Amino acid sequence: MTTSKNQSSRRKFIQLSAASAAALILPSCQNTMTDSTENILIIGAGMAGLAAGKLLHGAGHKVTILEGRDRIGGRIHTSEQWPDAPMDLGASWIHGINRNPITKLADEIDAPRLETDYDDGILFGADGTLQPDRVWNKYEMVEEEIQKAIRQAWKLDEDISIEEAVDRYLDTDSLTADELRHLNLVLNSSLEQEWSGSVSRLSSFNIEDGASFGGEDVIFPEGYSAIPNYLSQGLDIRLNEMVTQISHDAASVTVIAGDKSYTADRAIITLPLGVLKQNVVSFDPPLPVEKQAVIEQLGVGVLNKVYFRFEEAFWQKRPEWFSRLADNRGEWSEWFNLYPYIKKPILLAFNAADFGTHLEGWSDEKIVAEGMAVLRSMFGEESPDPQSVQITRWIADPFAGGSYSFPQVGAPADARSILAEPIGDRLFFAGEATSSNYPATVHGAYLSGEREANRILNL
Ligand SMILES: Cc1cc2nc3c(=O)[nH]c(=O)nc-3n(C[C@H](O)[C@H](O)[C@H](O)COP(=O)(O)OP(=O)(O)OC[C@H]3O[C@@H](n4cnc5c(N)ncnc54)[C@H](O)[C@@H]3O)c2cc1C
Repeated sequence: MTTSKNQSSRRKFIQLSAASAAALILPSCQNTMTDSTENILIIGAGMAGLAAGKLLHGAGHKVTILEGRDRIGGRIHTSEQWPDAPMDLGASWIHGINRNPITKLADEIDAPRLETDYDDGILFGADGTLQPDRVWNKYEMVEEEIQKAIRQAWKLDEDISIEEAVDRYLDTDSLTADELRHLNLVLNSSLEQEWSGSVSRLSSFNIEDGASFGGEDVIFPEGYSAIPNYLSQGLDIRLNEMVTQISHDAASVTVIAGDKSYTADRAIITLPLGVLKQNVVSFDPPLPVEKQAVIEQLGVGVLNKVYFRFEEAFWQKRPEWFSRLADNRGEWSEWFNLYPYIKKPILLAFNAADFGTHLEGWSDEKIVAEGMAVLRSMFGEESPDPQSVQITRWIADPFAGGSYSFPQVGAPADARSILAEPIGDRLFFAGEATSSNYPATVHGAYLSGEREANRILNL
């Protein structure tokens, strides 16, 4: 049975008042060859680093990319554990294909893409019973109430979390258990899964942070890694080079990675905010106080994935989404059914924010047992165990420290542009967290890399 979730797309939820700003600030691409070749170091071979590298290398500079992992792509990572079914452990979607720079890259290599539909879903109750449409339809009403609560909070002098805004507006103590489950589903699906941060930490003031491209959302059935692989062609990328120290003076930049030292004219740093927060890379001289402050103030949360692969599909082969009214916010609330796309019996559970963090402390066995208990409540006790699973733990990943950045309560509205500010003409900063327009996305990371490359080319 396929019913409509009647739910606005997650990317649209955050556009509380502003229109989609698809036409915003695409950095001007420089095709000009530079007169003087410079040595430029780039820290990190994720989308931001690769985008910057491609542009600067194309303009004639000598670019070296230092990457701590034994692979490129960063938070884009297609697993080949199942050779017949490549699974994306990081990003899956191009969010909004119209005029999106990732669409252009995917077109250039003819990467297969499939349109998905967030509205194509069914809803299960906390006990696993399939809910009728009229219950599902409450989703939109609750979403509207949350939006009203956030707008109400905009009138305050001081930022409060979305959880607090909703508590004040809806008097959540007076809600029934069922109403609370609905509220938590919408808070989790529309905000926490979107931003990876708990609503207890998401800012009411800055939740509109960013813009979006229009058009459909698409996934890569053969894996997103095709895009970073394409960008990396012809670039000098040194893998297993974990950077620990970055020093600069008026003339040059020196970067220490293991027992090696690299010196260059300039460096672009694309370290994830989750890594910058851990202070594992030291800066000499130290980063400006204002930049250190926003590294603390902006949030990094988690969106973790668990792929369950079965011998055969024991669930409805459509729709795409199985949502669940959980007793605790976000607990196994969102399941993506891959069957319609790749005709393989694979389900993908998304766990974000507080529950996604909690789950990282569990053993694989416990994660699978808990996930299966939920699936069995929805599809029958006789549902078999999976043949194989793939589980992410993005917070524990030392090269990520979380999934992506979010507007944390108390962070200034211009936190991302402060993070992006260069230091002199030596150090430049890119990465999704530095993108004021498209944070927490692949395209935001890509455009931030181009932005910093252009900044250097325009010096
Ligand atoms: C589970 C998940 C799902 C997502 N889903 C989507 C989605 O569907 N659509 C979307 O648009 N976005 C999605 N995102 C967000 C998107 O993946 C990121 O915004 C984007 O890939 C970040 O690119 P980046 O270049 O800024 O950072 P990264 O890709 O993290 O690149 C930074 C690089 O720096 C390297 N590095 C770290 N520390 C060091 C060090 N000390 N020395 C040297 N190198 C170092 C890292 O290994 C990494 O390669 C998702 C992210 C996750 C985790």
